[in-house]
Amino acid sequence: MKKHRRIVFLFIIVFTVLLFACNLLLRQTSVFHHGPDTGNLPWNLTLVNKQYAVPKSYSPQLMTLSNGQRIDKRIYPDLQAMFDKARSQGLDLQAAYGYRTKTQQDEILQDRINALRKEGLSKRAAREEAELTVALPDHSEHQLGLAIDIQAKGDTDKDRLYTWLANNAYLYGFILRYPPNRTDETGFEYERWHYRYVGKEAANIVFHKQLTLEEYLQKYK
Ligand SMILES: [Zn+2]
Repeated sequence: MKKHRRIVFLFIIVFTVLLFACNLLLRQTSVFHHGPDTGNLPWNLTLVNKQYAVPKSYSPQLMTLSNGQRIDKRIYPDLQAMFDKARSQGLDLQAAYGYRTKTQQDEILQDRINALRKEGLSKRAAREEAELTVALPDHSEHQLGLAIDIQAKGDTDKDRLYTWLANNAYLYGFILRYPPNRTDETGFEYERWHYRYVGKEAANIVFHKQLTLEEYLQKYK
């Protein structure tokens, strides 16, 4: 009888340890593949970076702009207001790249790798170099429909446009997603054209405290 109890006891311990280990493993893999638990975060704060993939549950509400680019329609009113204001200041601009599918993202990455290989880089070096400027499929904010690459149009001076955006985009809920010298946190080099919609409240804090989206979510959410 005593021996029997010992076996049951041992079984319970082994079972508990196994359960704990499985849970830990599952949590690690799910964090890596499907993004963080963003259950409490609104759509506009969805985090996508090298570590966090587009959440499986995320579905963009797409609309097509007059130039054929697609964005999430929920950001359209603020985007339009920002562009109107910029134009009233004599800046002509366009949303050059908006929403991208996973397949399109993969093609962009492969093109970049191929170009670098043609320059003489090894397979591994080309991939590493490409991944500094191009996101992996499912790890690009463009797949959310909330990121836009903005370009100057006509004879608008690029420097003037990007300075204006850096100082004013937050008023419309957009942030400079990859600021200079923040590669360690964002995983990307400075991209002065890439703006991400996070909403006015978050953008205001990100701008005034000079945070990355990663830092903002860590400190405020
Ligand atoms: Zn971009």
